[in-house]
Amino acid sequence: MMEWIAALQGARSASQLVQDLLKLRTDAEVQTKVVELNGILLNLQGELNNAQAEYGALMGRVHELEEQIAQFEHWEEEQQRYQLHEFPTGAIAYIIKEEEKGDDPIQYLCSNCYHRRVKSFLQPNYDKAYKRQLQCNSCQAVIVSETRPRPKRRTGVVPSRF
Ligand SMILES: [Zn+2]
Repeated sequence: MMEWIAALQGARSASQLVQDLLKLRTDAEVQTKVVELNGILLNLQGELNNAQAEYGALMGRVHELEEQIAQFEHWEEEQQRYQLHEFPTGAIAYIIKEEEKGDDPIQYLCSNCYHRRVKSFLQPNYDKAYKRQLQCNSCQAVIVSETRPRPKRRTGVVPSRF
């Protein structure tokens, strides 16, 4: 912004100098004013270059913000497709609503990532007879989605050290 103001001031100074030149009578006076005018024009060119660079940076920022707004709006729509789900273990995730699922498999979203506006599916990473875990591949959160009674071990005599 300051570059544009300086450029406008430079243009006004150059215009005034041209008006002054028309009133001069000697070559020395003309030469002095031409040198002064040349300096003003060089400064003006620098200010315009700075203003152009600032304009380019501002347009880049505008583009970034437009993309963020588009992502924000897309997420607002996307998050309407999911609802909070509590597993029997008490662990929380987001699950796709039945009416949104269609023929797709059940999808769970990581609640940590969901609140950061990131859509990240939970994937099974551990499934044993007594425990099932889901993991977020984005934030690495692990939740236990299901537990079953552990298989009973045979009881025996515990060896003693003594
Ligand atoms: Zn996550």
